[in-house]
Amino acid sequence: MARLVMKFGGTSVADIERIRNVARHVKREAEAGHEVAVVVSAMAGKTDELVGWTREASPLHDAREYDTVVAAGEQITAGLLSIVLQNMGVDARSWQGWQIPIRTNNAHGAARIEDIDGTLLRERLAMEQVAVIAGFQGIGPDNRIATLGRGGSDTSAVAIAAALEADRCDIYTDVDGVYTTDPRMEPRARRLDKISFEEMLEMASLGAKILQVRSVELAMVHGVRTFVRSSFEDPDNVQAGHGNQPAGTLICDEEEIVEKPVVTGIAYSKDEAQISLRRVPDKPGISAAIFGPLADNHINVDMIVQSVSEDGSKTDMTFTVAEPDAAKAIKILENNQDAISYQLIQTDSGLTKVSVIGIGMRSHAGVASTAFAALSEKGINIRAITTSEIKFSLLIDADYTELAVRTLHSVYNLNRE
Ligand code: ADP
Ligand code: ASP
Ligand code: MG
Repeated sequence: MARLVMKFGGTSVADIERIRNVARHVKREAEAGHEVAVVVSAMAGKTDELVGWTREASPLHDAREYDTVVAAGEQITAGLLSIVLQNMGVDARSWQGWQIPIRTNNAHGAARIEDIDGTLLRERLAMEQVAVIAGFQGIGPDNRIATLGRGGSDTSAVAIAAALEADRCDIYTDVDGVYTTDPRMEPRARRLDKISFEEMLEMASLGAKILQVRSVELAMVHGVRTFVRSSFEDPDNVQAGHGNQPAGTLICDEEEIVEKPVVTGIAYSKDEAQISLRRVPDKPGISAAIFGPLADNHINVDMIVQSVSEDGSKTDMTFTVAEPDAAKAIKILENNQDAISYQLIQTDSGLTKVSVIGIGMRSHAGVASTAFAALSEKGINIRAITTSEIKFSLLIDADYTELAVRTLHSVYNLNRE
């Protein structure tokens, strides 16, 4: 007997027919004698609709009331799945975040889980009752509903798996695993049998929207074996339980991966903007003067390139921010012109960051230069480069996103045979 957390995303619970299909997956595991906690997302499109309503009500709104509205989608799915399960003869009960409780910090709209009390859930699981938990939500220190940021049901699932010391956390979604790149961008992408926590963390942070970044961090810290698989498989054609190997991707410790290719995957993130401050005096403290005020205003700065003039007196400072933050960033820099003394400020939007990830890069030289050559052959200009131990990222014009992803995917031999 195992203890399993099963998470189903929005497309998997998009209508009542799909919820019935999900219920059959749950029933299979419960009938095999496993303890089962299920985490559900809102039906596909619901959260977007709810977010839209809050904006329509008022463009500037109280984050606590935003959470009250957007957490509702998951409440509905948890209830519906419990009804369907009960109707199939499975003992099931729905749980909202506050009922467990899943305690979060006070950052409404992007709250972090701080603690989960697993006592009540454990009691119910021991009674062979399936717990159907609303993902994406918890309760803040102000005793109000808090949501975990978009895609947050993944994080709910992994956090519950850690709290319950589950044997595995199964993330059921609309693809049958983690691919070498987004299969919607490159149909020749290959499914990975295994990927290390570290690589998955980079993939998610650098734009692969298959898992919320925080869920991967939690899985890594707590060693939760996380398995990404498809909810669209016929529930009766998969074997139940722990230890079998249905189609999917296991996210696990690096040591469990025997074959370590140099490059494991390609991720991309659109909607990047580049800001350049021209002819800034090159003296100590200038970086602090530029980036301090941006950080104070919670603006995430990413790729930074500095080029110093020939006589060393001036420097150009170029960096990227998420496009929706660009206007605010410019305003902050303009307000700090006295301290920075730049001569000109320029912005370019409509950029994409393409990243190449692989733990094998630690022990191989020259991996990035292959990418530079391949992109130049396609006439794609690289505007900025950053590297770290297991990844490098290139900033390009968004029009070339697909061509760049496919070119890199092919040049690193990731295409399906
Ligand atoms: P859910 O609603 O189940 O949470 P998401 O839409 O959040 O599903 O995540 C699944 C989607 O992630 C897939 O449909 C796919 O397009 C996208 N995706 C992005 N990168 C990858 C990747 N490397 N491997 C698989 N899917 C990816
Ligand atoms: N429903 C939420 C969203 O759309 C959470 C999730 O699906 O993970 O962001
Ligand atoms: Mg998701």
